Amino acid sequence: MVYTGVCNFNSRHGCLKCTTVGEYSHQYHTVVFPNSRCPKRTNEEFRNKKYRDRLKSDTPLLKLPIDMIEDFPISDSLHLIDLGVMKRLLVGWRDGNFKNLTTKWRADDTLKVTQFLLTCKLPSEIHRSMRGLDELHHWKASEFRSFFYYLSIVILPDFMSKGPYEHFLTLFCGVTICSSLKYSSILDLSHELLLYFVENFKTYYGNYITSNIHNLVHITDEVRKFGPLNTFNSYPFENKLYCIKKMLRAGNKPLSQIAKRLTESDWNVKSKLSKAKNETNQYPVIKTNSKNRKIIDFGMFVISNKIQDKYFMTTEEEIIEVAEITDEHIKGYRIENVSDIFELPIKSSYLNMFKTGVQNGNRTTEIISFNNVSYKFVVTTNKNELYFIPLLHTLII
Ligand SMILES: [Zn+2]
Repeated sequence: MVYTGVCNFNSRHGCLKCTTVGEYSHQYHTVVFPNSRCPKRTNEEFRNKKYRDRLKSDTPLLKLPIDMIEDFPISDSLHLIDLGVMKRLLVGWRDGNFKNLTTKWRADDTLKVTQFLLTCKLPSEIHRSMRGLDELHHWKASEFRSFFYYLSIVILPDFMSKGPYEHFLTLFCGVTICSSLKYSSILDLSHELLLYFVENFKTYYGNYITSNIHNLVHITDEVRKFGPLNTFNSYPFENKLYCIKKMLRAGNKPLSQIAKRLTESDWNVKSKLSKAKNETNQYPVIKTNSKNRKIIDFGMFVISNKIQDKYFMTTEEEIIEVAEITDEHIKGYRIENVSDIFELPIKSSYLNMFKTGVQNGNRTTEIISFNNVSYKFVVTTNKNELYFIPLLHTLII
């Protein structure tokens, strides 16, 4: 942590947010943080050099009128959740590299999870489709993210026993609550759930409470200050870096190549912006694709009769499957007999998540106006049941 002049995250005094003191684990060859309930660090104490064990040098940032503790977030979901906790758990379940082997999957379990992942059709807004667990070490952060938010609660109950699955659900619910403004009134509950997950981690995975696991107890404070997790993570920076890398056409003089490409693209963006200004940009917009299929563009999401894009919640709290889209409205089937996916630690319906049997038989159509579309679902099928989980960024208050 050169920028704040403090020691590294995996040193004994490594927590940026609290005064917990880690212990070196000879079993895991890293520092672990068994204590989750320690006093918070404060800006005043940082500036008064109270944290002598932690400070390595003065930082020029001290000259700025900022909070030296609160203004340095640790809850970047890309690194903390997706490439952090979710990756650690999935690799651990597959390979059994936790010291407690009760959570290890058999080889045929791993194969079945892979088969499920390869059949999942994620909505058009999620550009990367899922790969199998055999390619886990090549998964991008966004694949761990899709698994965590949209697939884990569908497939994990088939391969985990009750204890570890219910433990995982406290992480799932805690992080989901931190991921949408819609749940901001229950952030206290989220904190309790995440604290439970961290404090009971050793029951199923050994005393492997690394900095990433420990930091989960600090994320609700940051969500209160900065907003839902997806509003201050590093995905936009990683995406931009990816675009910049793709601009390179040869191995020499990379910086000047990138400068040229950026200048060119700047011109393109300006011309696109001026064109966009002249176009009406009122959503929803009805579009027709090359297969003559109508698509409704709501700005943040699209609805069409493609299998992965055709389920949404109405403002009357009805789940609808698109049957037909016209220029005036949507004709759709109402999904009947929905129930909770899980009941503990809270009912899944509190988080707008439901399941139902695959719908058969004669169904009557309803007419839904575009104004009555509330948010979109990610829908997956497992064992003849349909699972409805809100596409998070479409879920607004
Ligand atoms: Zn801490």
